[in-house]
Amino acid sequence: MAPLLDVEELKVVYPGPKNLWGRSRNSVHAVNGVSLTVHPGEALGLVGESGCGKTTLGRAILRLIRSSSGRVLFQGEDWLQLSSAELRGRRRHAQMIFQDPNSSLNPRRTVGASIGEALEIHRLVNGPAGRRTRIRELLTSVGLPEDSEGRYPHEFSGGQRQRIGIARALAVEPKLIVCDEPVSALDVSVQAQIVNLLQELQGARHLAYLFISHDLAVVEHLCGRIAVMYLGRLVEVGPSREVCRSPAHPYTQALVSAVPQMHADGVPRLHLRGDPPSPVNPPSGCPFHPRCPVAEARCRTEPPLLRSIGPNRQVACHLAV
Ligand code: SF4
Repeated sequence: MAPLLDVEELKVVYPGPKNLWGRSRNSVHAVNGVSLTVHPGEALGLVGESGCGKTTLGRAILRLIRSSSGRVLFQGEDWLQLSSAELRGRRRHAQMIFQDPNSSLNPRRTVGASIGEALEIHRLVNGPAGRRTRIRELLTSVGLPEDSEGRYPHEFSGGQRQRIGIARALAVEPKLIVCDEPVSALDVSVQAQIVNLLQELQGARHLAYLFISHDLAVVEHLCGRIAVMYLGRLVEVGPSREVCRSPAHPYTQALVSAVPQMHADGVPRLHLRGDPPSPVNPPSGCPFHPRCPVAEARCRTEPPLLRSIGPNRQVACHLAV
């Protein structure tokens, strides 16, 4: 099956201050040559510590921020090459759900007006009656009462506001939703409800997700595959169960070790030393080497490539087999 989304060697570089000769120094490679695929109806989890470039990658894929190079093929068409007008026509196919739903909801507009706006921009309803029926259907599908349409975002709890954000994203019938830490700001009990809702919607609507999270347990529950990101690069990709039960990259092993219910017998418990290095001045060789408990001499000079170590399994580590 052809991928819905095929990202090739994507880079996002933020130039640093210019020197006397007008050259930028200390550029930040926020996303450094990432390639990944998402198939129709698939949920791919993107995990890593805060600041590793996950959100930047998600936004660059949707062209909410500018990429420096690479390709973002959505249904075979490179979105980085589209004009603004062409992109506007495609936007409904790939939506985003944010960590803070308030960022996508206008506090001065009713819930019905916010959802209806998306329907009208993309001409997906006929007349006020059709608009109202569709808004009520969407609210019901995310577990909110139909009469929520006349209320304002501040009248809802955090979990309910996230449901409104999901309804708004669903309004335009997307094929892909980039979910950027959609449950991390919610209470634990509410997190499970929202994750279950996303899972139900995925099955019912054949939705694909790029699910960005720092919570490996949530990602394993929701996603069939996981991509692990460190300092702007992917370091491990594979089926969720395999990545969580037998992580191959020392960084993934450390992430798994930090989740008590996930740590498996026989897998060495690894603890991360210190904070991630600055992307302004990344380490030579393997970018993980200053924190890696099993680093060898060559790790300081030779950058490991993301290579295949089994069916659908890729790792960027010299020692992985
Ligand atoms: Fe550790 Fe070396 Fe593997 Fe990097 S390449 S993760 S430093 S063992």
